[in-house]
Amino acid sequence: MFKIPGCNRKLTLDKDAGRLLTALAADYHKTVRPLDIGRVDEGGYAFREANGASGHLSNHASGTAIDLNWSQEGAQGSKLGAVFFHQVKHRKAINEIKARYGRWVQWGGDWRAKDYMHWEIKPGVTRVMVVNACKQLGIDADGVRKP
Ligand SMILES: [Zn+2]
Repeated sequence: MFKIPGCNRKLTLDKDAGRLLTALAADYHKTVRPLDIGRVDEGGYAFREANGASGHLSNHASGTAIDLNWSQEGAQGSKLGAVFFHQVKHRKAINEIKARYGRWVQWGGDWRAKDYMHWEIKPGVTRVMVVNACKQLGIDADGVRKP
């Protein structure tokens, strides 16, 4: 179980992928939109999607994907998400997160079937690569990134 730094929310994730995704969630909380407002609407391991695309559910099933703010960012094809992420300041915050984590993590908002709440370890990224990414980005075993 990972506690998202700076935020009263927890995620159940793979022990290595979880470090990277928890650090990403903390950045998201700070720069895109707070995660801990309203009901708990974040998920990691085994969260069931309403409309899983192929390959999508398996990432949650292995604890290598997270969903953030699903009541706001919405599920696949969400109009709320489309409006929110069309705004320049939100797009900019997302681009900063992608610049930091994008070698290892992909955003569902970039998919043809938009899934704005979803972030996952990219296909082909191995556990060793994830561990090295954490080293490179200064992320500890709890998912805390030291800037
Ligand atoms: Zn998801």
